[in-house]
Amino acid sequence: MRKGATKEQIDHVVDRLGERGYGANLSGSEVSVIGAIGVLDDDKARLAEQLQSLPAVDRVVPVLKRFKLASREFQPDPTIVNVDGLAIGGGALIVMAGPCSVESEEQLLSTAHAVKDRGANVLRGGAFKPRTSPYDFQGLGKEGLELLARAKRETGMPVVSEVLDPHDVGLCAKYVDILQIGARNMQNYALLREVGRSGHPVLLKRGGMYPTIENWLLCAEYILREGNRNVMLCERGLPVAGGETATRNVLDVSAVAVVHELSHLPIIVDPSHGTGKASYVPPLARAAVAAGADGLIIEVHPDPERALSDGAQSLTFDQFGSLMAGLDTLRPSRGTSAPAAAPAASR
Ligand code: PEP
Ligand code: MN
Repeated sequence: MRKGATKEQIDHVVDRLGERGYGANLSGSEVSVIGAIGVLDDDKARLAEQLQSLPAVDRVVPVLKRFKLASREFQPDPTIVNVDGLAIGGGALIVMAGPCSVESEEQLLSTAHAVKDRGANVLRGGAFKPRTSPYDFQGLGKEGLELLARAKRETGMPVVSEVLDPHDVGLCAKYVDILQIGARNMQNYALLREVGRSGHPVLLKRGGMYPTIENWLLCAEYILREGNRNVMLCERGLPVAGGETATRNVLDVSAVAVVHELSHLPIIVDPSHGTGKASYVPPLARAAVAAGADGLIIEVHPDPERALSDGAQSLTFDQFGSLMAGLDTLRPSRGTSAPAAAPAASR
C-alpha cells in the first residue's frame, strides 16, 4: 500500500481478497504490506491488474520464491511466536536448555531447576527419541511427557519435545508447548501437515536427505499452509563431508544470516548437535548469537558421563552457567529487554 494508506483503504483490499475466497496477512511498519493467501494461478494476473487500479495500492508484487508464506516478500516484519506468553523472534535472545532425553524424574527436575536458575527460558527434553540403532534407549514416551509437564508446573518454563509420529501429535500437544520436528523428519510431509493442523508452535530442525535452505523453507511452508503461523526454524549442523571425524556435524552459522534475509521466521541454533562435543558448544553458541540468532537450544545434563543419549555433547550445570554469563552482550542489536508476551494475534 502507498505510505499513509488509511485503515479503510487497507480493509477494502482485504475485503476484495475475501470476496474471491483468499486470505490476507497484514504486516510492515512504515508501509503496509498485504500478503494475499491462496490466490489461484490462473487468477493471479487478473487480480493483480484489478488491485493495481485502486488508488491506495502502490504495487502488486508476485512472490517469486517457491516458498511463499515463509518469505520476506509476503511478510516483511519478523514473526513473533507466542509460546505460553514468551515471545520468540524479533526481540530478546531465547535460550532453550535441558537433557537430550528425559531419563528420570530426578534427572529432569534437577536439570530444569538448574537451567532456569542460570537463565534458560524454555526446557528441552526428548520423550520420543529417534535413535540410529533400535537397541539404543528410545525414550520414556508418555511417561517422559508427563515428567515434562511436571517440570513445567514446578518451574513455570514452557517445554519443547520432539514428536516422531503423526499419530502422536495430539498427545504431545497436550503436554508440550513447542513440538520439535527432528532433523531426520524435516521432509516427513505427513508429520509436517499434522503439526500444521495442530496450530501448536513448532521447532523445525534442518536435515533430511536434501537439507538445503530452500528445501527447509519449503518444509516450513507445509506447516504454514495448514494455517499454523507459529513456526521456528532450527539450524543443527549438516553431515560432515570428506570423512572428517573431529565434529559430529558442521554447524552452518551462515544459515542465520541467510534465513533472516529470505524469511520472517525466527531461527534458533543448536550448537550441541551442531558440533557433537561439549567443549565446542560455547564458542559456537556465541558465534550463533553474534550472527543474530533468535535463540539457542542446548543440551545440559546433571552427569553427562552417565547420560543415556548424547552425553558427549551435553554441558554440565556449571558449564551451562558460564556460557550464559555474557551471552546477551554479543547480540548484534542489543534487544536485551526481558521477553514480553507477543500479541495474541500471532498465535
Ligand atoms: C535432539 O534434539 O535430541 C535430536 C535428536 O536432534 P536432531 O533431530 O537435530 O538430531
Ligand atoms: Mn540429542
